[in-house]
Amino acid sequence: LQKRLSTAFKRFRVSGVLTEANMKEGLREVRTALLEADVNYNVVQDFMARVQEKAVGTQVVKSVRPEQQIVKLVHDEMIETMGPSDPTIRFEKSGPTVIMLCGLQGSGKTTTSGKLAKLLVAQERRPMLVAADLQRPAAVEQLKVVGEQVGVPVFSETGTNPVKLCQDALIEANRRGCDTLILDTAGRLHVDDELMAELVQIEKKVRPHQVFFVCDAMTGQDAVASAEAFNKALELDGVILTKLDGDARGGAALSVRKVTGVPIKFVGKGEKLDKLEPFDPERLVGQMLGMGDIVGLVEAAQSAVDAEEARLQQEKMAKGKFDLEDFRKQIVQIKKMGSVQDVMGMFPGMGQMSENLGNIDADAEIRRIQGIIDSMTPRERSRPDLIDIARRRRIAAGAGVEPSDVSGLVKQFDAMASFVKQMAQMSMLDKIKAMTG
Ligand code: GDP
Ligand code: MG
Repeated sequence: LQKRLSTAFKRFRVSGVLTEANMKEGLREVRTALLEADVNYNVVQDFMARVQEKAVGTQVVKSVRPEQQIVKLVHDEMIETMGPSDPTIRFEKSGPTVIMLCGLQGSGKTTTSGKLAKLLVAQERRPMLVAADLQRPAAVEQLKVVGEQVGVPVFSETGTNPVKLCQDALIEANRRGCDTLILDTAGRLHVDDELMAELVQIEKKVRPHQVFFVCDAMTGQDAVASAEAFNKALELDGVILTKLDGDARGGAALSVRKVTGVPIKFVGKGEKLDKLEPFDPERLVGQMLGMGDIVGLVEAAQSAVDAEEARLQQEKMAKGKFDLEDFRKQIVQIKKMGSVQDVMGMFPGMGQMSENLGNIDADAEIRRIQGIIDSMTPRERSRPDLIDIARRRRIAAGAGVEPSDVSGLVKQFDAMASFVKQMAQMSMLDKIKAMTG
């Protein structure tokens, strides 16, 4: 994938500007690269449509070449497609939490059971492994070896069926004080009805709290087909992608999330039992693209542009020409730049607000403020003094807040604007005094 994509990105380099024609050509190469990396066809179509849409609307940042901008776009879209990551397991408050692993034979269920148990032991939980694969004679033995390696009890029974076995395991777990059960279920080489029926029975009768689909990342398209089948039969809570070590192509990571709609929780990166990691889309995409330097460059250029915009607005503020439209722009920037408190601290007069925000959900507050300003007309934004009771009601209704929230915001803005004006008229020494209190 890496090689193909770098060829694709070269296309954009030829002319130096991003035209519709060379973008189309370059994106076609990206598409081919993804398909060759075994990403599911529908997923690729969808992906390309979104990249294209964003590419058209993207202003090429000065000092960044168009193809670099496209690399960044593709990079971001890949992360978006794979994510968001959520490597958490929800545990039950009372009684053992039952985690069921399912997947095709050889996908890595038994190995992953051991890895997961090891991880849980490190989190001071008391897991128990359950040998629910009664299909393969050697399966129970394999799990026992794994259990021994990680120092976790393994429950097994002979002459029974998987449902009964899991139920007995639950009783045993309660008796031994184990708080997590990991069901290592049977797989087949291919999806078949008998296997699915068995798993559905376990799901129905044992009622596992979490069902994870274990998926071999090396199998590409097959991974998607089996993910679809398992997702249809069972209510999946997450995916564990195995064999992402070595030169894994990662195409499955792009497809599986889209196809199942459930997050990728963990990734297996080797046969050893400590090779399980929380899924980190950014990292995986970084490895898949191998273009971290370009992505970093574009990000740096972008933030330079943002900083320039911030500076212009500061200038405007200093001249007392700061209106609600500028305020809104700042908020959009703040959202883009991440840490709300840090960024707000950069703007004169906003330090106090930033401290206030520290006590509440800053993102929600920002969304609320933006919602209110969005509901204003351009004229209202430049002349907040025009906002009377009727306008206040209309704005509040548009933003889904109370009219008092609207006046609160305008007051806050007034205070800030007058502070800024004062600051602008002060001498440098006074400014420093005012800032340092
Ligand atoms: P199961 O049939 O689904 O239980 O699969 P197993 O756990 O028996 O694993 C099948 C094979 O894949 C074994 O040889 C494992 O060592 C190997 N395996 C499992 N997970 C990984 C992984 O993350 N990386 C690598 N390289 N091999 C793995
Ligand atoms: Mg197994």
